[in-house]
Amino acid sequence: MHDVVIAGAGPVGLFLAGELALAGSSVLVLEKEADPHSAWRTMPLGMRGLSGGSAEAFYRRGMLVPLLAESGMPPAEDEQVRPRWIGHFAGTSLDPADVDLSALPYRLPSPALDGIMTSLDAVETVLAERAVKLGAEIRRGVAVSGLVQDDEHVVVQAGADEYPARWLVGCDGGRSTVRRLAGFSFAGTEPQLTGYVALATIADPEKLSPGFNLTPDGMYVSMPTPGHFGVMDFDGGTYDRSQPLTREHLQAVLRRVSGTDVTLDEVQLASSFTDRAKQTTEYRRGRVLLAGDAAHIHSPLGGQGLNLGIGDAMNLGWKLAATVRGHAPDGLLDTYATERHPVGAKVLGWSRAQVAIMRPDPHSRAIQAVTRDLLATRDGTTYVFARTSGLSLRYDLGDELVGHNAPDFRLADGTRLGELLQDGQGVALDFTADDRLRDAAARYRVQYKAIPARDDLGYDAVLVRPDGIVAWASGHGSFEDALSRWF
Ligand SMILES: Cc1cc2nc3c(=O)[nH]c(=O)nc-3n(C[C@H](O)[C@H](O)[C@H](O)COP(=O)(O)OP(=O)(O)OC[C@H]3O[C@@H](n4cnc5c(N)ncnc54)[C@H](O)[C@@H]3O)c2cc1C
Repeated sequence: MHDVVIAGAGPVGLFLAGELALAGSSVLVLEKEADPHSAWRTMPLGMRGLSGGSAEAFYRRGMLVPLLAESGMPPAEDEQVRPRWIGHFAGTSLDPADVDLSALPYRLPSPALDGIMTSLDAVETVLAERAVKLGAEIRRGVAVSGLVQDDEHVVVQAGADEYPARWLVGCDGGRSTVRRLAGFSFAGTEPQLTGYVALATIADPEKLSPGFNLTPDGMYVSMPTPGHFGVMDFDGGTYDRSQPLTREHLQAVLRRVSGTDVTLDEVQLASSFTDRAKQTTEYRRGRVLLAGDAAHIHSPLGGQGLNLGIGDAMNLGWKLAATVRGHAPDGLLDTYATERHPVGAKVLGWSRAQVAIMRPDPHSRAIQAVTRDLLATRDGTTYVFARTSGLSLRYDLGDELVGHNAPDFRLADGTRLGELLQDGQGVALDFTADDRLRDAAARYRVQYKAIPARDDLGYDAVLVRPDGIVAWASGHGSFEDALSRWF
């Protein structure tokens, strides 16, 4: 019997598998598809933007260097002081030079400030290699089709085969079977649009303008790879997505939305999506948990789904592993839902806001014009960066630094917090170097470092959880209480 079965070897399932294996749990990942590689996962259609917060998660687990290499990106600068890339808000591109990092509280230079332009294939390759190296098992071509749970166990069914485990985590995407089988309710808003992404041979590509284009009938994006485009059609989500997506339909939508008579000679790959925005009301039912798209779906606008899912995996992994091993403080696992549900809800709101101002009606366009002016200001760009980069992540755990995503403290010996977190343990940093916290730290599963910091941001000591969140800072309650609350 495994400690944990994970349904789905997408990026979230694989990240979580690595986290659990790192913490000593036995993990089996069951993946429906037999082949991990497909044209939907490689460039250009598998292109995904990872935020600075996700880059930081990879950095904190020693995977930033391999991910950048696998993504064909240059190595990270040792101490990035400003982002080089932000992305867009509802089609309005933002200038990274306008980000005022000093407005983001508690940031220090780090190799993981920037987002990463990558592909699902690159992300999954790096994550699968790490998970397997740490001892997780991945079985491909196995679709989870049933589950039975009691107080102690869950038996996962895949056809005639059964896989007993102590816990099951559904990381099986937006149409999650686990979500349905375990009876989670999925609440939210119905779609206003149907979106399409495609790779096609376009007879007259000059008829489409490059980049994001808002038109009287919707929006289209013409990407740098020839023939790669996206279209958003505000059809009220009425297009029947169960039927085959034909060249004729795609061309008709593209013509109408772009206001051109562009011709698609041949469509190599195409798929559709909607802006349906839903989230499970619970993240756990008994011995079944959900993470990633299985727990929340929204439009791909602003590219946040994967980032949100990586955040789920980083938050859940160490808590579930501690629960499995029997040393979790009371209620630790419940904090997964209390911390991650609000973060997911905010991302759904962000995605809805973009859809609302992109609607092709005069009122929405008027708000779009106002928003564009605001975003062109330093404060506006910084606000978007703070909301989307993940670097300002904060859970409601206390005052000031407590609950914040930790700054990348650099110690006097050159070691950085990001490096210290790579073994997945919590870290207590005593910048006064007087060893006064050593005895308390030794009673819990945390590393203890009594070394001054190059910049301690005014704190004598901090306690950082395995997911990089500050659990305690000097002057904010008792160190011992924080240790016993989290470790
Ligand atoms: C066009 C597009 C662009 C996007 N761009 C971005 C972006 O730039 N940035 C960003 O952050 N997000 C982006 N996203 C969203 C992002 O791709 C998803 O949020 C992310 O892939 C979710 O990861 P996941 O592991 O939760 O689910 P998935 O990637 O859907 O993986 C789920 C896995 O579970 C498997 N599975 C399904 N059912 C079963 C079953 N019954 N048993 C076993 N296995 C099963 C599937 O085969 C799959 O491998 C984009 C999405 C789209 C559509």
